[in-house]
Amino acid sequence: MKECTKCGVSKPYSEYHADKRNNDGKQSSCKTCTNARKSESRRVNRIKLLKDLGGECDKCGNSDVRVLQIDHIQAGEGNAHRKSFSCRRAYWRFIRENRKLFQLLCANCHCIKSYDEGDYNA
Ligand SMILES: [Zn+2]
Ligand SMILES: [Zn+2]
Repeated sequence: MKECTKCGVSKPYSEYHADKRNNDGKQSSCKTCTNARKSESRRVNRIKLLKDLGGECDKCGNSDVRVLQIDHIQAGEGNAHRKSFSCRRAYWRFIRENRKLFQLLCANCHCIKSYDEGDYNA
């Protein structure tokens, strides 16, 4: 058993991710805490990216980060292109450097755009 430095709960070693830099070969915080921190930083980074792109829907001006989506202006190309990136971070960097290839849309405007482009599955 090992005590998590974040939540203070003692958990079996299997509840910790491996970390070679630590003496016992495990991270100091448990998987639950580590995952929570990761998703929190992903959330914060996403909001930062949305702000960098203007922070509101290009069509209607909705600025609610919960509904904002980054849209590749050339539909179709977007998905294949996205898959060519090894990780989210690389993709986000590309978005920042190529702002004009992307637009910020809220979920509503995104649906309308897909519909107008003939994608009736959306
Ligand atoms: Zn913990
Ligand atoms: Zn909108």
